[in-house]
Amino acid sequence: MRYQGTVYRPPSEAGSLIIQATLACPHNKCAFCGMYQGRKFHVRPIEEVIEDLDTALQVYGADRVRTIFLADGNTAVLPAEKLIAIGEAAKARFPGLQRITMYGSAKFLVKKSLEEWQGIAAAGITRIHSGLESGDAETLRAINKGVTPQEAVAAYRHVMSAGIELSVYLMVGVAGTERWREHALGSASVLNHAPPSFVRLRTFVPHPGTPWHDRWSQGGLTLLSAYEALQETRLLVEQLQGPTTLLSDHVSNFLDVQGQIPGDKATMLAEIDEALQWPRTAFRPPTERLVGLGL
Ligand code: SF4
Repeated sequence: MRYQGTVYRPPSEAGSLIIQATLACPHNKCAFCGMYQGRKFHVRPIEEVIEDLDTALQVYGADRVRTIFLADGNTAVLPAEKLIAIGEAAKARFPGLQRITMYGSAKFLVKKSLEEWQGIAAAGITRIHSGLESGDAETLRAINKGVTPQEAVAAYRHVMSAGIELSVYLMVGVAGTERWREHALGSASVLNHAPPSFVRLRTFVPHPGTPWHDRWSQGGLTLLSAYEALQETRLLVEQLQGPTTLLSDHVSNFLDVQGQIPGDKATMLAEIDEALQWPRTAFRPPTERLVGLGL
């Protein structure tokens, strides 16, 4: 496999074979994101992708690859025919393949028809990781996500109706102490209107060189303390109706809140309430101290 630039993948894809089908991100405008700064979006030729699959087959053998993640930041933007060709090529090489996944922002998910998504799912690409970050309209606009809450609901319903699983990522604290309540309520509203298979939390850490870092460093955004982050998460959990699975599988979080919604909701709320009584030293260092560490 040949990799270009820093390769990012969701934490849950740690065991996946990573194949770069695209390079960088076609949006590349989210105010908090430094992942592909200064890099231009490219689509890799299908021949190169297939060559990488062949290399993986030689290196790992036909039986060891069970899941594949198609990097980079928004591979869902590829035409359906290309995604289907990649999926079919992967399935032909790895008979034990259980799942192929990729990143896909809501703004790109609506650009394919239901039939196209059904074809993509049939080719084995059955899970999309989608960074929504917030369901609050003002926050989405401010972080330049390129989508409104209503558009996100429509996009998520669209791909899920094709039988594709969704992992939706929310960013705790991205709206600061200034809009934490609207951020939690708006996020719960989107996810209640289009319940994904998974809701995954990560906590906002300013990335140097991004507009959202500048906003924080210039005093326009206040980072959440551990207790404030837990209050925001508590409100989100309280409001979520599901059915969905909530996970906090990222090192940036103050507490590992996880469980089924609605079945485990009471337990999760009780765990958060208990953690709200812990001393400050029971949590990871304050977010200010994580700036610049690459989280
Ligand atoms: S869509 Fe994802 S990869 Fe692209 S700029 Fe936004 S957060 Fe970064």
